[in-house]
Amino acid sequence: MKGMTFDNQFVQQLPADSIVDNYPRQVQGACYSWVKPKKMASPSLVSYSKEAAQLLDLTKEDCESERFTQIFAGNEQLNGMATYSTSYGGHQFGHWAGQLGDGRAINLGEIVNKKGDRWALQLKGAGPTPYSRTADGLAVLRSSVREFLCSEAMYHLGVPTTRALSLLSTGEEVVRDMLYDGNPAPEPGAVVCRLAPSFTRFGHFQYYAQQDAQLLKQFVDHTIITDFPHLPEPSTLTYIQWFEEVCRLTCDMVVEWMRVGFVHGVMNTDNMSILGLTIDYGPYGWLEPYDLNWTPNTTDATHHRYAFGQQSQIAHWNLYQLANAIYPLIDEVEPLEKALNAYADRYARKWLRMMTQKLGFSSVQRVEDNQLIKQLLLFFNAFETDMTIFFRRLSDVQLHRDTFKAVEALEQLRPAFYAEEMDKESEKMITEWLEHYAQRSQQDPASALERKTLMDNVNPKYVLRNYLAQLAIDKAEQGDHSMVNELLKVLSQPYEEQPDKEHLNQKRPDWAKYKVGCSMLSCSS
Ligand code: AMP
Ligand code: MG
Repeated sequence: MKGMTFDNQFVQQLPADSIVDNYPRQVQGACYSWVKPKKMASPSLVSYSKEAAQLLDLTKEDCESERFTQIFAGNEQLNGMATYSTSYGGHQFGHWAGQLGDGRAINLGEIVNKKGDRWALQLKGAGPTPYSRTADGLAVLRSSVREFLCSEAMYHLGVPTTRALSLLSTGEEVVRDMLYDGNPAPEPGAVVCRLAPSFTRFGHFQYYAQQDAQLLKQFVDHTIITDFPHLPEPSTLTYIQWFEEVCRLTCDMVVEWMRVGFVHGVMNTDNMSILGLTIDYGPYGWLEPYDLNWTPNTTDATHHRYAFGQQSQIAHWNLYQLANAIYPLIDEVEPLEKALNAYADRYARKWLRMMTQKLGFSSVQRVEDNQLIKQLLLFFNAFETDMTIFFRRLSDVQLHRDTFKAVEALEQLRPAFYAEEMDKESEKMITEWLEHYAQRSQQDPASALERKTLMDNVNPKYVLRNYLAQLAIDKAEQGDHSMVNELLKVLSQPYEEQPDKEHLNQKRPDWAKYKVGCSMLSCSS
């Protein structure tokens, strides 16, 4: 842990809550409250990410030391650390929820690593804070395994995300009513240390905007200077440029979610990172059959507000709320509207480019490709298909004019389909699509090898399938951490063939279809 240099800009630049006692309250006129993590009974290391450790210049010896366990369970603090929780608000499920804040996150400060990059450190589940309301500020092992594995899996997939350094069990029990059905039960507690250049959310701006214009301005200026250092110094023009950039970052993040089949599950404005990072891994899920209407979050089962196919529109809605919050600094509607309109155009363009890459085309033929993709999605809608397996296997299909046969291609794709038998209508749809796809590919100047390389770099072989995460959790709860570590390793190379790991690239087995934790999750964590 030597050489970790802290440079805690957030607490140095921004106003602190004047109360230092730790009890739930409304905090006004301040961006954060000082708070110490709770002492945990007997923490022990479940897993750590060596790639994330490198970001902090930590060695294997550091990470495997008892001191590391004590520090990242919150029991000990390093020199230079500052422990605090921040205040923010947010729209939850479309409604303004008032103050939320870091209810179970305690920041440890910011590090500047040897390369000069800034990383903020945050413990999730380290005990109550002034923002915990009636809850305990703790996290259970099951949700912590999910956050830890998914953060790192997303990073290796190339999706913008917060990172996870460590996963520790605390040796304490935490009571949770997992399904909110009146059956609370004790579960093992855990703490994750996560990393990000900044943990600032849309909800921070919203909450300060509601209080006073000066606090909002101070926070926006701080964000621009610290998190967007390439922008000119704060001015009205810079605020506009900054908002345009936030729109672009958010758009690109959602396109990436759509590429890999990720459903965030709770896209409330407090869960939207200002840097366009995927943040707050709660009741998220990975598509099993491709389904635009699917959400893993049982809290959202009626309205499907945060379903897979809604994510772009919801991100756009969230950006509207951010625009409303920062409007007083700009005092003009038009530039904000322009940026919001640009989001929609950018999304359509980027989504199409992303989908054509998944299909292996070196460039976009807008009208034809839109049509081709529409046809494919209609088929997915008609016949349950695992998109990860489908696209990955598609890159092995030979499309050469002289040898291509749709029936053979269909055989190759068979493992992607959920039903064993395909009805005539679906078979006709996919066969026609394959014919059309082969013709389109034959016009593309890319060679067969180039096509396969392009496809295999955007279509992962391994994703954190819901049931795999659950199997790893079941074992971890019995004290066996092997599958957590196995998944961490396999998912660190999601685009590589790993012949001895084929069992981790299988569609959801039937037993997992209605199993809690697999494709049905609540916010309870
Ligand atoms: P989420 O939907 O998980 O992003 O959480 C929404 C809000 O509830 C945030 O302010 C969280 O900090 C807070 N929260 C969630 N779980 C807990 C908990 N166990 N203890 C305290 N606050 C929590
Ligand atoms: Mg949250």
